[in-house]
Amino acid sequence: MSSQVKKEEAPKYKIRKEDQVQVISGKAKGKTGKVLRVDKEKGRVYVEGLNMLHKHSKPRKQGEKGGIIKLEGPINISNVQLYCSKCKRGVRTRIRLQDSGARNRVCAKCSEVIG
Ligand SMILES: [Zn+2]
Repeated sequence: MSSQVKKEEAPKYKIRKEDQVQVISGKAKGKTGKVLRVDKEKGRVYVEGLNMLHKHSKPRKQGEKGGIIKLEGPINISNVQLYCSKCKRGVRTRIRLQDSGARNRVCAKCSEVIG
């Protein structure tokens, strides 16, 4: 492992919070959902309603019941793809530089702008 890792590297992942993604492998394969959180350090994403974990909670106040909380579990970021509404599935994306200087992610298949 090299110790000379640049901190100002270009973003490694194309997936961002609020993106619609499709899971392409693992337990939740084929399912789609909205990205709640991206953990770039660990290379994981949390997708709304997917890979739910059940956690036991202890009562915090007197008279309150403990229970089971459902929480989204991490999904490996390489197991999700951006969802293209035109292709109706997860797709690979390319970055397109617009004349305005904006960078858009476009579907590698149909060139639909995803965001
Ligand atoms: Zn497409």
